[in-house]
Amino acid sequence: MSNASKKLSMKKIYVANPRGFCAGVERAIEMVELALKKWGPPIYVRHEIVHNKHVVNDLVKKGAVFVEELDECPVDRPVIFSAHGVPKFVPEEAEKRQMLFVDATCPLVTKVHNEIKRYYEKGYKIIMIGHHGHPETIGTMGQLPEGEVLLVENKEDVEKIDPSDFEKLAYVTQTTLSVDDTKDIAFALNKKFPSIENPKKEDICYATTNRQEEVKRLINYVDLILVVGSKNSSNSQRLVDVAKDGGCSEAYLIEDYRKIDWGKVAKSSSIGITSGASVPDHLVKEVINSIQEKFETNLVFDRTRKETIEFKVPPLLR
Ligand code: SF4
Repeated sequence: MSNASKKLSMKKIYVANPRGFCAGVERAIEMVELALKKWGPPIYVRHEIVHNKHVVNDLVKKGAVFVEELDECPVDRPVIFSAHGVPKFVPEEAEKRQMLFVDATCPLVTKVHNEIKRYYEKGYKIIMIGHHGHPETIGTMGQLPEGEVLLVENKEDVEKIDPSDFEKLAYVTQTTLSVDDTKDIAFALNKKFPSIENPKKEDICYATTNRQEEVKRLINYVDLILVVGSKNSSNSQRLVDVAKDGGCSEAYLIEDYRKIDWGKVAKSSSIGITSGASVPDHLVKEVINSIQEKFETNLVFDRTRKETIEFKVPPLLR
């Protein structure tokens, strides 16, 4: 290869930091693995433990069985609830059936559950900013009786709320939303309901916030962003949105290296690679390796930011 053609095929790859697994996801996966060791397979898991096909398939190979509802599990096998959280009736039902269950809900999601319960006890009506049909939203809204939490997905939904329906009002959010979009919706809520109670501390979690901040930094350097993550992963999808909103129109979600659009890569001179909070890092490494097999590359890592948050598994599994 001549020097000129080598230069043409040079790709600068910016690898995001932080990226990938968050503390809640690590804990949830560890809980399934520890349960498999402690009780042996099969271990039932209600809903995908985290939204990543590779993680789920690995656990299936080890003996986990994924189901959508509790009545698909035999009563004599342990069941684990996913990191996204479950409506209140799920553990109640498991208790009624005398099942052994372990709750892998991320502690930061549980914090939002407790928040809305506190508001409810004090007589507030609650608005949840979140995505319709997402298991986390279903789980959080399901902490209270049906109809007590109103879901808003965007500013248009806020406009539709009839102010006369509410006296004391508070809002909470899903943990994996776009920080900027949520600020806009919260602004619209505060404008329409000046006395609305805001969450004391941001409900959008540290992992979602940090990964979005990093994408905002990377788009200053790259002309293509590849986000490794599954389609049903909210926080991965949001990384694509953040890149696009920030002006990087070439931002794509890919399940793994097999989904790389080589035409897009060929046209780019600098590429940012990141991954959602439910994505094992070997998938990012495989994406980098497959680009390196086809092109000359210059890898740029920034290791200055560190996440130190860890969540312990429950005593039952320790
Ligand atoms: S993305 Fe945030 S809320 Fe979800 S599991 Fe990770 S730390 Fe918990």
